[in-house]
Amino acid sequence: MKKTVKDYIRTIADFPHEGIMFRDVTTLFADARGFRMAIDQLLHPYAGERIDKVVGLEARGFILGGAIAHQLSKGFVPIRKKGKLPGATVSQAYKLEYGEAVMEIHEDALLPGERVLIVDDLLATGGTCEAGIRLCERLGAEVMGCAFVIDLPELGGRALLEKLGMNVHVLCEFEG
Ligand code: IMP
Repeated sequence: MKKTVKDYIRTIADFPHEGIMFRDVTTLFADARGFRMAIDQLLHPYAGERIDKVVGLEARGFILGGAIAHQLSKGFVPIRKKGKLPGATVSQAYKLEYGEAVMEIHEDALLPGERVLIVDDLLATGGTCEAGIRLCERLGAEVMGCAFVIDLPELGGRALLEKLGMNVHVLCEFEG
């Protein structure tokens, strides 16, 4: 039977902590057919829609977002963890299971009114993507979609993003 995107994803038990089942997309990215399938499927629902820029969330969102931006002949914009971007930035704090983290975007990376697609490998609680959405919106851009390879539905990220009015697209689901 034909392999699906999910079939290329490897699960590593007890990483980075005991009890965590880490969904590893490096095996998907390493396979030419799997990687192309993932990029094509991530873009599929947006055919014919205006996308001005692709925004990737650190770090695996850079790999997916770069390939998608190339496919669309559009620019790519990284959202990074605090302290990594060299220019003037806008910052957004968000909650982690233990404590808080901060994501940043270059303040001139998006123009008001631009329609952006946010991309990452995995949607869990939705906190990272929510911070990304806020950063894009604070620059005046419109988030026209959020696309992920994997959703962990038990963690509620999709519900959170949909409550914010987001269009969410995922390629497969795993148990949390
Ligand atoms: P959230 O903010 O809880 O939705 O977590 C999503 C972020 O955590 C994404 O940037 C993912 O790359 C990362 N992440 C969490 N769990 C996994 C996993 O099992 N595999 C790969 N990335 C993960």
